[in-house]
Amino acid sequence: MTKREKLRLGAHVSITGGVDLAPERGQKATCEVIQIFTKNNMQWTAKPLPPETGPAFRNACADHGIAVAFGHTSYLINLGAVEEPTIERSIQALIDEIERADLLGLPFLVLHPGGHMGEGEEKGLATIASRLDEVLAGTKGSPVKIALEITAGQGTQLGYRFEHLAELIERVDAADRLGICLDTAHLFAAGYDLRTGAGYDSTVAALEALIPLDRLCAWHLNDSKSGLGSRVDRHDHIGKGQIGLELFRRIVNDPRWRAVPMVLETPKGKDMAEDIENLALLRSLVTDH
Ligand SMILES: [Zn+2]
Ligand SMILES: [Zn+2]
Repeated sequence: MTKREKLRLGAHVSITGGVDLAPERGQKATCEVIQIFTKNNMQWTAKPLPPETGPAFRNACADHGIAVAFGHTSYLINLGAVEEPTIERSIQALIDEIERADLLGLPFLVLHPGGHMGEGEEKGLATIASRLDEVLAGTKGSPVKIALEITAGQGTQLGYRFEHLAELIERVDAADRLGICLDTAHLFAAGYDLRTGAGYDSTVAALEALIPLDRLCAWHLNDSKSGLGSRVDRHDHIGKGQIGLELFRRIVNDPRWRAVPMVLETPKGKDMAEDIENLALLRSLVTDH
């Protein structure tokens, strides 16, 4: 196997002009995997996808060498919301996104668990779990999973501790449809010090003590503009932020993540030149043996 075949690296890719255009964009940016929004992520609703979009998208992935495509849900959704209409809109929007993902053949959707809006963490987690139950029951039989993303813990955002993700998995009935997504910038801002080998090992051990590693659906590889434990979510280019290159060298060479797709969510312009550069840097860190 070549170095590149061992890893599944890519980026978040725009769906401007239609989801079926994303795979070609991904290929141009040297992606083997892509993350997409299933609709405009700043709007609550979208026109249904015509059924032919499913095969068109899957063919485009095959034509452009995209091994895995998965989704990220809209930032508007908050399963911890305490007021209408946000509660109902969040539940309906997530159900709609799962249906869109199913049509497109996306195996999972990354979701920020939600904010408790002042209700407190325990109550917030219970609320989010019961709404996940509602969403998963409303899409019963769907092969699409929800990957709960570790968050930076900004404001009242939950999900900034492995304990939060473990508790949600514990509480939800259809937990076989739940996975997790690890974002390096979020972990660092949440207080997990990943800068050293010892910090990396203890972070992975802390995760594994609570959640089996095979729940991991994806990595978001982002450096962090904000500091350790700052609880501020600001992504930076690989090796240019406060985390530094060594963490990324460890991740891309860790055999435990060999089958886990890894995508960038770092700042970029329209032609994705920054992604090409960041992906080349990540690939250069892979040591063969
Ligand atoms: Zn992320
Ligand atoms: Zn982020």
